[in-house]
Amino acid sequence: MPSTTVTFFPVDNGDMTLIRLGDVDASTILIDVNIRVDADDPNSKVRDVAKDLRDQLKKDSNGRPYVDAFLLSHPDQDHCRGLTRHFYLGPLEDYPDDKKADKDKKIVIRELWSSPIVFRRASKNHTLCDDAKAFNKEARRRVKVNKDHYFAVSDGDRIQIMGKDIDGKTDDLVQIVRPVDQAFNTIAGRTSKMFSAHLLAPIDASDDEEVEECLVKNQSSVIINFTLAADDITPDGAKFLTGGDAEVFIWNRQWDRHKNDPSVLEYDLMQTPHHCSWHSLSYDSWSDKRNDAKLDADARKALSRTRSGAVIVASCKPIQDDDSDPPCIRAKREYVSIVNGVSGKFYCTGEYPKKDEVEPMVFTVTAQGVALNQLREAGSKTAAFTSTTFSPRPHGSA
Ligand SMILES: [Zn+2]
Repeated sequence: MPSTTVTFFPVDNGDMTLIRLGDVDASTILIDVNIRVDADDPNSKVRDVAKDLRDQLKKDSNGRPYVDAFLLSHPDQDHCRGLTRHFYLGPLEDYPDDKKADKDKKIVIRELWSSPIVFRRASKNHTLCDDAKAFNKEARRRVKVNKDHYFAVSDGDRIQIMGKDIDGKTDDLVQIVRPVDQAFNTIAGRTSKMFSAHLLAPIDASDDEEVEECLVKNQSSVIINFTLAADDITPDGAKFLTGGDAEVFIWNRQWDRHKNDPSVLEYDLMQTPHHCSWHSLSYDSWSDKRNDAKLDADARKALSRTRSGAVIVASCKPIQDDDSDPPCIRAKREYVSIVNGVSGKFYCTGEYPKKDEVEPMVFTVTAQGVALNQLREAGSKTAAFTSTTFSPRPHGSA
């Protein structure tokens, strides 16, 4: 049986994360994509992350590469860039690439994980990019197929909806809606013993206009805490918390909702929200206030439910000691202090293993958290791993 792994691809300020489950099918959940045009140019120095991704994907019986699930945390460009160039959207009977070379075949998405309420909030904030519009169109197509023929839906038409939409728009879709504050373990029409996904956000639309406006402004995103199995008999190997670009108000609310039972926020591995932005931890501007910028205590509490040996990964450019945000040096300091308390580690994808020669970071889920797969030779073009660093977690949490 393969191990369960979590891979962070170096995509500058943006997210692209792959969970590969340790089941016989090596089922995959891809969270966001940010494949820049430069990354596809063989003459560019930018890492070819599409190749890195494809190297980890399996092919179906028609020889088409696929992911079992694709989750879009929210429809900003740095989370869906390259979607239409690299992924096939539309009914599978029209798949056009069967005669092409493997590297040029578009990737099939067996199941979309989409949140209409996040889309709704994002489109109030700004105009959606073309990749986001294409995702939305595909989500609508799949919802319609599910409405019309729920019991006959197959791969390529599947969708799970993250959170209820407004005005009862998703009320007739109970089979495919995953309610907030509940866990699910279905993927591409199967139930899995290898993961459980606890949906923490988006929270349902609020009747309070002021609250709803803050949810819009604070980059509403899907937040999931995944419990990932190490193997058949260890369902809780590691918890992986991921939350798109959710900002301070959202995390503050998370603490308010879960302070009486914060275990739902616990993690062994966390992707910093919003590319290590200070705005996930504070209402103040970093460049304006610098060291007078105030931390929001409750947002920090929500983001610091570490288990022993916890790892935090910032998916962003190299982090400089200057006014930039994101990534922001002050946010990094906060995350470093969070992991230091539990003998954990902080990493930045833009600095791994070196600033100008980045590689994907691959973590293996163990019985006690996650372990970083060590590169054989820093800077090698192919990700070849020789050893794994364990950060053991004693029983119980920190
Ligand atoms: Zn982003």
